[in-house]
Amino acid sequence: MASSSFTKKTLGLDTAEPALTPPPVTNNTSFAKKPKPRSKSKKRDIPEGLWTKCPKCATMVFDKELDENLKVCPRCQHHFPVGSRERIHSLVETCTFEEMDADMVSVDVLNFTGVASYTTKLEEYQKSTGLKDAVITGVGKIGERRAALGVMDFSFLGGSMGSVVGEKLARLIERATEKALPLIIISTSGGARMYEGMFSLMQMAKTCAALAYHAKARLPYLSVLTHPTTAGVMASYASVGDLILAEPGAMIGFAGPRVIKDTTQAELPPGFQTAEFLLDHGLIDAIVPRREIKPRLIEYLSFMTDGQKPAVAA
Ligand SMILES: [Zn+2]
Repeated sequence: MASSSFTKKTLGLDTAEPALTPPPVTNNTSFAKKPKPRSKSKKRDIPEGLWTKCPKCATMVFDKELDENLKVCPRCQHHFPVGSRERIHSLVETCTFEEMDADMVSVDVLNFTGVASYTTKLEEYQKSTGLKDAVITGVGKIGERRAALGVMDFSFLGGSMGSVVGEKLARLIERATEKALPLIIISTSGGARMYEGMFSLMQMAKTCAALAYHAKARLPYLSVLTHPTTAGVMASYASVGDLILAEPGAMIGFAGPRVIKDTTQAELPPGFQTAEFLLDHGLIDAIVPRREIKPRLIEYLSFMTDGQKPAVAA
């Protein structure tokens, strides 16, 4: 081996030969190492679209299993985000849901332009999510009872509340009042939709005003908070339920921790924006795992509308 390399160097004449000589000179071990990246790429290829890694316990969960378990990790019970349509499907009896205002779409009143214009943002999200805006509303049967149901979707612009979310919810609440129906709103939101400026903030007062009439009619309103429910939504209709439920581990709050710390100049307790902390401090009435939400809603609705339970207890 060594002798052959010397001959080439000393001669320097054979132009065809160098192609043959370098391979023996280079370490064979380098060839042995090469397959490693291949195996890595294989590992990356297999799980796509079939498995999801749980962010809490790092278990690889089979997507089918995750769907069957209502997007809850079977090992550590971590609650993954759920789309509004899936959520409605899991709560309402089949073929009983009548959607309201399905085609209501936001208007770019302010001609808002940031990185992209609000109009193009809306179009993008409408295409990628198949939704018109961040909430679906309608009337359906949950168990034996008809109820007005509004379900927010975080995948549409962070579940932000613009004029469509506010208007659809206000109309839902008004329908519930008119038809004497109990109301359930399942929230998830990053807050008000800044692209609509003042118009998004007005929705807080509008939805709460409609809720006040619903309450005057002595009809129950159940608010379900899911991860995350924050800012303008938490500061309006999400926090004024007759009964406020939350999913385990949900982040619930108004402003982010940094803003609160700077404003109050106080040390914040650990985990102060979680459902568990807020249950301990009385803001939330119960933490209900996703699979139990439907039976619990049925139970609470029957308790609040018929008063069956106290009658049995008496
Ligand atoms: Zn997990």
